[in-house]
Amino acid sequence: MSAPQAVTEELLRSMPLPRHQEGEDKDARGRVLLVAGSVEVPGGALLAGLASLRAGAGKLRIATCRSVAVPMAIAVPEARVIGLEETPAGGIAAAEAAGLARRAAEADAVAVGPGMIDAEAAAALTAEMLARSAGSGVPFVLDAAALRALRPGEAPPGFAGRLVLTPHAGEMATLLGTSRDAVLADRLVAARRAAAALQAVVVMKGGCSFIVSPDGRAWSCDRGNVGLATSGSGDTLAGIVAGLLARGAPPVEATLWGVFLHGEAGARLARRQGLVGYLARELLAELPPIMEALA
Ligand code: AMP
Ligand code: MG
Repeated sequence: MSAPQAVTEELLRSMPLPRHQEGEDKDARGRVLLVAGSVEVPGGALLAGLASLRAGAGKLRIATCRSVAVPMAIAVPEARVIGLEETPAGGIAAAEAAGLARRAAEADAVAVGPGMIDAEAAAALTAEMLARSAGSGVPFVLDAAALRALRPGEAPPGFAGRLVLTPHAGEMATLLGTSRDAVLADRLVAARRAAAALQAVVVMKGGCSFIVSPDGRAWSCDRGNVGLATSGSGDTLAGIVAGLLARGAPPVEATLWGVFLHGEAGARLARRQGLVGYLARELLAELPPIMEALA
């Protein structure tokens, strides 16, 4: 098996992001549906949603718990916010899956998971959304608790190549039915296993992130720094990838770009503000100039 290829500026320039014509409207720029957040962690939805817009998407719908929907809509005035039935644990009820699948069919990319703390409900909701969206052709990003909808070796039917998974080591362990230590012993092997078994583009997050495509190609990206090991950081990555997918970037390219942009945003903040202590929300405004410099 070949060594992973480094994600560099040169590589990304060989796979440019979609160019938008002057006359395009916000629908043409790409519509993101984000299913995320909970009563205790609404910020996961806020960060992922803003990240998708900062990555260039034209339109954002955030579907989240009913009791945080109004504050979310005020905090993210760029989004349309849909309030959903809540579970006793303060998560999104799985009964909302059918309605969300209908909304997913009207989007250009869907992201599920950031900030969803009721893991059981998140797993059931995501599994049902995937089952109902099998024929839609819309790419999905699954992060955090949404990854629990998946079982090793059981790739969701109809999703081959249009699923992007963004687990950290603990989430990868759950995904593969193994221990976190086993994942950490060889994170690239874990990423390869997950990508092949689930026919997904997999980001194995960490100090150096590995990206593996369903056909076994692998990349590595060590652009970031330890300052990215901070709350909300992964939520922004999921949102960035969803935004790029909505703009029309193919899944592998959206993922490679997303991981690089996230890392480079951290690198720029570290140079200006110091290695640790920058906030996940500060990554967001870094993204447009980085994309511009690589155009
Ligand atoms: P999460 O754990 O879901 O919040 O995701 C954390 C994000 O920060 C991922 O994109 C990781 O790759 C990145 N990250 C975490 N720790 C480091 C580190 N030490 N160096 C570089 N990137 C990191
Ligand atoms: Mg996370």
